[in-house]
Amino acid sequence: MDRRTAQQELLRRYAELLDDAQAFACALETPLVPSVWVNPLKTTVERFLAYCHQAGIAAEPIPWYPGGFRLRNCSRPGATLPFVAGWYYVQEEIAMAAVLALDPQPGERIVDLCAAPGGKTAQTALRVGPEGMVIANELQMERLSALRTTIDRLGLLNVVVTWADGRTLPLPSAHWDRVLVDAPCTGEGTLRKRTQSWYGTDERFRRHCMAVQRRLLRHALSLVRPGGIVLYSTCTFAPEENEQVLDEVLGDYGSIEPFDIPQLRATPGVRQWRGRSFRSDVEHARRFWPHHNDTGGFFIARIRRTELPIPEEPSKLSLPKRAQLQPAQRLDGIEWFCQRFGVEPELFAPYRFWMRGQEKLWMATAAAAPPETFPAESIGIPLLSYKQRQIKPKTVALQYLGRFLRRNVVELPDEEAALRFVNGQSQNLSTAEVEPGFVHVRYREFELGCGIYARGQLHSQIPKSLLTGVGREDGAE
Ligand code: SAM
Repeated sequence: MDRRTAQQELLRRYAELLDDAQAFACALETPLVPSVWVNPLKTTVERFLAYCHQAGIAAEPIPWYPGGFRLRNCSRPGATLPFVAGWYYVQEEIAMAAVLALDPQPGERIVDLCAAPGGKTAQTALRVGPEGMVIANELQMERLSALRTTIDRLGLLNVVVTWADGRTLPLPSAHWDRVLVDAPCTGEGTLRKRTQSWYGTDERFRRHCMAVQRRLLRHALSLVRPGGIVLYSTCTFAPEENEQVLDEVLGDYGSIEPFDIPQLRATPGVRQWRGRSFRSDVEHARRFWPHHNDTGGFFIARIRRTELPIPEEPSKLSLPKRAQLQPAQRLDGIEWFCQRFGVEPELFAPYRFWMRGQEKLWMATAAAAPPETFPAESIGIPLLSYKQRQIKPKTVALQYLGRFLRRNVVELPDEEAALRFVNGQSQNLSTAEVEPGFVHVRYREFELGCGIYARGQLHSQIPKSLLTGVGREDGAE
């Protein structure tokens, strides 16, 4: 089905729910403006705005999301130096609303059942802060790497990644403060994205999505503590995947609460759809239409868990054979790091270190720990690796700690050199006051990461996952 036919299908399907079909159609025709939020772990809104000003980018604040901006004349915000340095995250504007409704609090322990590529995990991790933690779970291996890249680039030390089916992820039940179910869905609300693949819904696929959504929601209700919050969201308009799923699963286990995001227009959840009626509290859920806020489409329900225990579902889950990450016994790499980069060991005092096998050392906050019941893929960010008796610092750790480093730091002279470096190229470096070996590379205020300095040459060690084609017309995004 082509784009136009898909639009007409949406218009027909939702005619009875739409207040202004023409405005809806017109919004669907208009590409979305790229939107970002600023990462306070790496910069400030003021520095971000100064960068935009100097780069000629018009950054317009999103009125309802603090630190969020629309970038009207920046077609590739995922391919800039500050992006590589983790200054901001590119996220569809309306998707930012889910975590406002989840409302994570400092110190809380939160599970994100469907986490990749990690936008909502990141927003949540920033809100719970160093005393809290997030379990970010994802089913699809190929999407797990995007999730890891988000965590690494933004420097989120309080996130534990698991790779499992969110319908059965074996975590302690009735335990977590909040659980996020940003469910896989038919994606009708994403038609305005340039790279979107949604071109019409096969009703069989919708039924498949509904079955997955029901089980994800039910499992979320079993994980959250009594009185805790489950946030259910989709990027689709269909009441079948929204109100109907809530109606079929919630029973007396949870009630849908009102929530308010000032300056963001929405319509209440619907009580009736195609001959079916739904429980009355679905009216507290919110549907976001593209023409109301000039965004994509979205649906959010905020559910308060009751005290009623939920019967365990029989699970055929077999645990992966992967070993669990263990507290690191080997810390000589940290001593090496302190000497090489001229930092005091106290810099590392707030963190805990984890290893699986003998190769990679992970650095995380003290509050983040892998679940006892399930092996974690990662915890925090990688600090260094031990390979063939050589210690190698990781780019993401150097980016995170960059501003504290005093030795073996290369300051690149100009933007051209910085672009070469972030595109993975080698270059001459004549004036370096650095010793041969691993160095940290910076350009102006952008902490860019790991290089090797040898015989007058700087060799970029930026991992492939962070290469976004910065400054190139054909770059990935
Ligand atoms: N929350 C993400 C964010 O903000 O970046 C977007 C999540 S996307 C809407 C849904 C994700 O759920 C996809 O990455 C998909 O691979 C994953 N998924 C699908 N079925 C799943 C399941 N049974 N368990 C866990 N994740 C699942």
